[in-house]
Amino acid sequence: MIVVSFGNSALFWYYSLTMSYTLRQSQLFTKTRKEAPKDEVSKNAQLLIRAGYIHKEMAGVYTLLPLGLRVFNNIIEIIREEMNAIGGQEMSMTALQDPAVWKKSGRWEDAEVDVWFKTNLHSGDKYHEGSELGLANTHEEPLTILLKEHISSYKDLPKYIYQFQTKFRNETRAKSGIMRTREFVMKDLYSFNKDEEGFRDFYESCAEAYTKIFNRLGIGDKTYRTFASGGSFSKFSDEFQTVSDAGEDLIYINEATGTAINKEVNTEEVRKDLGWEGVTLKEEKAIEVGNIFPLGTKYSDALGLTYKNEEGKEIPVVMGSYGIGPARAMGTVAEILSDKKGLVWPESISPFTYHLVVLDNGNEEVHADAERLFKEMETRGISVLYDDRDVRAGEKFADADLIGIPKRVIVSEKTLASGEYELVERKTGSSSFVHEQELLHS
Ligand code: ATP
Ligand code: MG
Repeated sequence: MIVVSFGNSALFWYYSLTMSYTLRQSQLFTKTRKEAPKDEVSKNAQLLIRAGYIHKEMAGVYTLLPLGLRVFNNIIEIIREEMNAIGGQEMSMTALQDPAVWKKSGRWEDAEVDVWFKTNLHSGDKYHEGSELGLANTHEEPLTILLKEHISSYKDLPKYIYQFQTKFRNETRAKSGIMRTREFVMKDLYSFNKDEEGFRDFYESCAEAYTKIFNRLGIGDKTYRTFASGGSFSKFSDEFQTVSDAGEDLIYINEATGTAINKEVNTEEVRKDLGWEGVTLKEEKAIEVGNIFPLGTKYSDALGLTYKNEEGKEIPVVMGSYGIGPARAMGTVAEILSDKKGLVWPESISPFTYHLVVLDNGNEEVHADAERLFKEMETRGISVLYDDRDVRAGEKFADADLIGIPKRVIVSEKTLASGEYELVERKTGSSSFVHEQELLHS
């Protein structure tokens, strides 16, 4: 059960070393709660707060608690594996930004970009503020400038660079829980190619990687590659939209192609371009879980990122950007895979694989058997949350349902007598009895 991944990133090793596979629920500092805060209107945040995954600091700003951080890191690891598989190199850029860089591309002024959070340097004089700084809402500009020091020849291309990094955006609306926040981590990848052809190839391989990611997150069957309005260069960009009533976007699905078109661009002209004239499209609300975007030479022109081709001629680098919000993905899973009782995580991102629940009723033998099984699972590196709390069975089950770990193992007088453990699937509620060896070797 120990998944050893040879991800190339320091962050990954840090998480693997600091995140243990097992936890006693009696030691978990967070508590579940029956009611969500009154001002919390979104289903994902209501459930995640009640189950102890997140804490609301203020509107649009949430802290990840231990359970939430585990899910979040699992999502990040899936994205990281798929980005590495298509040649991505991970780095981490700063949130503090120099306005001069953004003035060069014309994206510093609030009239141009209205989501900036801006701050000021200390002036040394407490009555006056020093010069301005920005808190990054995206990273095209600083990365383009950084690469000028490393790219000069066609031999240096292509390069694909990504990070998991905190963005700050002064969003006007914050009613979607962790799906739209004012401070959030984004996976942003930027592609740098010699020409349009190389760029197009990478764009398609990234689209495929996104499909794999959303499949692995358990939302693939509801996620559609969606034509959206183009950037500076192309007519279209592509969004990955997951059908959900909690979505802020409207998309029109073409069942035959398995793709969709965003309402923003759903015009007769665009439908004609796509060869979708006369096709019946199904309207759905959807959540934009990711997007991929041709940038052309907009930033390389503005900031002077060029390379020398075989003939020694200076050519602007062709760029693209590719974003996913891991917390938005987590909120999306919470929205669409939950039920009346609470969260239902797919195993791929669940905080733990097993929820071991002991119902000892003061019976020391039962308790000792659960302790023994827990330690056995621990030694084998099986990921398990062990509900060793001294509370009623009803409370343990209600909490387990709310927390949403996919497999529940129950240890009780009944199981001790039968020599088998009860295994309950969170998603279906179906229960079966399994031998210890089956559990430990699954
Ligand atoms: P939206 O249209 O939803 O405002 P966007 O088009 O501005 O998002 P990008 O700037 O391309 O999004 O960001 C890339 C990805 O980051 C999005 O697809 C989404 O998954 C995530 N994301 C964007 N804004 C937020 C936010 N405020 N909170 C959480 N995740 C976000
Ligand atoms: Mg968008």
